[in-house]
Amino acid sequence: MSAASGLAAGAGVAVAAGAAVLAGEALTYAAKKREIAALRARCRERGVVALTYDDGPGPEITPRLLELLARQGAHATFFSLGRRAVLAPEILDAVAAAGHEIGCHSLLHRNAWKTAPWSALADISAGYDALAPWVPADGRFRPPNGKQTLLTRRALRRRAAPVAWWTIDSGDTYASLPDPAHAADRVRADGGGIVLLHDHSEDRPAERLDFVLDATERVLATARAEGLAVRPLREL
Ligand SMILES: [Zn+2]
Repeated sequence: MSAASGLAAGAGVAVAAGAAVLAGEALTYAAKKREIAALRARCRERGVVALTYDDGPGPEITPRLLELLARQGAHATFFSLGRRAVLAPEILDAVAAAGHEIGCHSLLHRNAWKTAPWSALADISAGYDALAPWVPADGRFRPPNGKQTLLTRRALRRRAAPVAWWTIDSGDTYASLPDPAHAADRVRADGGGIVLLHDHSEDRPAERLDFVLDATERVLATARAEGLAVRPLREL
């Protein structure tokens, strides 16, 4: 084989590998869309709202949230980040003691589309290791940035851990915050749903933390007004 045809063959392999990755992403993306549509339908059918909090625990906000949820008699699901959990284990102990569900959100929040495949897989299993005191090996997993690949999907299936999507983004991480009623309005329009919020407080201005509490209160008020049950994901 000449150097030129070797090069061409090498490029062909690279293109084929790239195409296989893209096909895998397209497949997992289609699966995600289907799963979210099914979740939306199930929430509506059962008249259920699930509040979910990612990226915590946050020393400045998680305790305040626990107080708010306790006052309203509501249980939520917290998708904790391993690296923050090990810094504030007493907060996760309090989350668990209050009867909330705790799931895994990886150790370091590696976006599966932007990191090497082995690094995304390692981040998932290291997350479960760090969260072992609170999350079973087959506890729910929320993919960082909502991104998955065929490999991460397979790894989660192997541990029998459900992948936990959301149906309504509260907007609490948007560059410019939406109306705090946004999530509650969507809950009313959809007849239920799974709301994405965040409970970390690292480098997060007080205004964002207040937004999370405000949006939570509004969703709870809407659930009450609409006769919707507020449940952790394990009871969906
Ligand atoms: Zn996250």
